[in-house]
Amino acid sequence: MFLTHFFFAFIWMARPRIRPRGANYYLCDMTLGHVNKLESFGSVDGPGIRFVVFLQGCPMRCLFCHNPETWKFSKPGETNDGIMHLTAEDLLAKAIRYKTFWGKDGGITVSGGEPLMQMDFLTEFFTLAKAQGVHTCVDTSGVNFTRADKDAANFEKFQKLLAVTDLLLVDIKHIDPAVHRKLTGHDNANIIDFFRYLDEIHKPIWIRHVLVPGISDHDEDLIKTRDFIRTLNNVKRVDVLPYHAFALGKYTELGIDYALKDTQSPTADRVANAKRILETAHFTM
Ligand code: SF4
Repeated sequence: MFLTHFFFAFIWMARPRIRPRGANYYLCDMTLGHVNKLESFGSVDGPGIRFVVFLQGCPMRCLFCHNPETWKFSKPGETNDGIMHLTAEDLLAKAIRYKTFWGKDGGITVSGGEPLMQMDFLTEFFTLAKAQGVHTCVDTSGVNFTRADKDAANFEKFQKLLAVTDLLLVDIKHIDPAVHRKLTGHDNANIIDFFRYLDEIHKPIWIRHVLVPGISDHDEDLIKTRDFIRTLNNVKRVDVLPYHAFALGKYTELGIDYALKDTQSPTADRVANAKRILETAHFTM
């Protein structure tokens, strides 16, 4: 009798499981990454030549987003949308084939979507990459960062991830909280705190600012952004990214309204103006 109970208990514990937990899905206890696409030779997402991983899922809805196809999650096996569901080991095996091209500066960048929506997977992936001496970089909005006591478990996950992350690319989408909310659907208070935290722990960052005419190109906002950047000591580079409507076709295909359809790209003068204000903000004046 005892042996029969033991046998059924063993079968029950060993059963294969797919269950949702937060933003991730787990097959048994193995975290699978939801990968939208891979790019073998990225040259703008961090230093040197980089293998770029675009993860699926983002809670923000930036009006200028180029990757609306990354917004939604899908469960393994339920989609024909080309999303890959990979283990960290499998993803690293795909990346490491290109290691000889990375030289001393390159490595792996994980972008999205919002990669921090898959923090457990990302931490596992970067831990494996660091064990092989790979430079790791994450391109994030910081939208889910918080140090609130009630979110201590989430903060602990951030600390674990940052311990295996060499560099972060973080956007200042807008310095004004109200405009930030209109532009992205989210407040920026926790994102500003994310910048402060990264400074406190001396984690190197590159800052990017998408220049959208009439929204994020006003001089007074650019100056406020510059003044904020000057309070940080961990900024290695600032880039101004001129808005363009290249993603319009994706929105049409996905049936999503494109709110900026009447917005033009900024003029060369306005781009030069923003670069003059922002791109030297991290140098000691
Ligand atoms: S955070 Fe990035 S992926 Fe998400 S909506 Fe904004 S631009 Fe798109």
